[in-house]
Amino acid sequence: MANKSSIGKDSAAGKSDLLVITGAGGFIGGNLAAYFRKKGFSRIRAVDKKPLYEWYRRVPGVESLCLDCSVEENCRRVCEGAAEVYNLAADMGGMGFIERFRVECLRSILINTHMVEAAYRAGVRRYFFSSSACAYNILLQQDPQVRALKEADAYPAMAERGYGWEKLMSEMFCQEYWHERGMKTFIARFHNVYGPYGTWAGGREKAPAALCRKVIEALDTGRMTLDIWGDGTQTRSFCYIADVVQGIDRIMHCEELIATPINLGSSELVSINTLADKIEKIARVKLERHYDPTAPRGVAGRNSDNTFIRKVLKWEPGTSLDKGLAETYRWIKTQYAARKKGLRVVE
Ligand code: NAD
Repeated sequence: MANKSSIGKDSAAGKSDLLVITGAGGFIGGNLAAYFRKKGFSRIRAVDKKPLYEWYRRVPGVESLCLDCSVEENCRRVCEGAAEVYNLAADMGGMGFIERFRVECLRSILINTHMVEAAYRAGVRRYFFSSSACAYNILLQQDPQVRALKEADAYPAMAERGYGWEKLMSEMFCQEYWHERGMKTFIARFHNVYGPYGTWAGGREKAPAALCRKVIEALDTGRMTLDIWGDGTQTRSFCYIADVVQGIDRIMHCEELIATPINLGSSELVSINTLADKIEKIARVKLERHYDPTAPRGVAGRNSDNTFIRKVLKWEPGTSLDKGLAETYRWIKTQYAARKKGLRVVE
């Protein structure tokens, strides 16, 4: 069994060490596989339960496996020979999904429970868990002009039902695998990640992708309206994918952050109305807004307090929302056009 005296003795994985990424058929996992491949890692194992043709990205030179990581024996196979494991697999989506399918969200507990144990048994050097801002106490998020959430705000616990509680519990698993068993675990709480190669239609998409698609649809169909969930005053911060993959790498290789949850998000707070304004500006259009007060809207406000990440990493996500949205809009537009031509695209 590893023990805590090993702290600081092992360095980050070498370019020929095996990195495992679960949830790699999805948005963040797929982009992370591309990031590490570009960085020169020659052995990456990408895993997802989705069939390979449904993956957003199939990165050349990366071993791609279709396996369900909620099954213990699959996790053993997944972690075999790995130096580092990045667990990004979860049954998740935007507000429409996590408010409606709490059982599915809670069942993701099986993924991390089996993955962290399999990683430990395989002697993995570092283990990363993708947590969420939904783990924070919802009572602190009842006003659109919220105080940004700092890491200590997860306790006393009152996480978002379903999804948030699963994340909080899985964080605890990761922390105890360090405290009791000495495996180095790292936990980032993501705040609304967006960007190319992510869900943009079908019901699991989040606000930035959903609004980009709706604007593109309006321009395409001539139906010049924009449906917005809630009254549009709810506030969020949105973090661009390129910042997130870089942040994951930095967090995973920072000894000070072992078993210590940290925000990985932007601190640029905007209302959903402002988000829609920005997308309209990119598309050079103004649409008539239709608000749906009965649609899921989540907490009234949520922002990332980046004091801790700035202090410990001397870095924080820096891509402006305008720049990230322009890239995202462009990508969704190409996907939309391809789908219209009858080409196979992953939504
Ligand atoms: P995503 O849905 O695009 O990707 C998740 C992937 O996990 C999917 O491809 C899915 O098929 C896969 N998966 C689900 N169950 C699985 C299983 N049993 N075995 C193997 N694969 C399985 O989501 P994402 O946005 O890439 O999110 C990645 C991680 O980051 C998740 O843990 C998510 O909860 C977390 N997170 C994301 C955001 C965000 O804004 N995108 C915010 C907070 C936290």
